[in-house]
Amino acid sequence: MSDHFLVVIPEDPKAEQPDTARALRAALAKLADTDEVRIKDYGKLQFIDCGEAFEGIGCPSCGAEISTEQWHQWMDEDWHGEDGFHLHRHETPCCQHDINLNALSYKPQQGFARWFVSARNEGRGPLTANELRALQEVAGIPLRAIAQMY
Ligand SMILES: [Zn+2]
Repeated sequence: MSDHFLVVIPEDPKAEQPDTARALRAALAKLADTDEVRIKDYGKLQFIDCGEAFEGIGCPSCGAEISTEQWHQWMDEDWHGEDGFHLHRHETPCCQHDINLNALSYKPQQGFARWFVSARNEGRGPLTANELRALQEVAGIPLRAIAQMY
């Protein structure tokens, strides 16, 4: 039996936790129909993954696959220990496109953030576009939805 979490992070990785975070937590709890909901604030940039649901990574410019080997090398270069991640510029091997790791096409969605809100659920499936839009209205900032499975 897998554990499923609906997670939202700010679309802007630099964004600090907004005053609306608690309202956002309440709205996500209602959507996921659970009390098991939390806000985690790292105070530094971290990678928010999708767990076992991970399928692959694509170039946002040409769509070519980015090897996990290449990605791990970039992750190592961007990792600053105590300071968390710094999003450096990298060049994709496929088409020499300037990217940072938050701009890659993750399948399914993943991303970098200083904080997140997450709700445990029984695998009700990812947030719909309408649900994400409603949560963005509560948060007052653009959000990225991540469906985690562990
Ligand atoms: Zn490319």
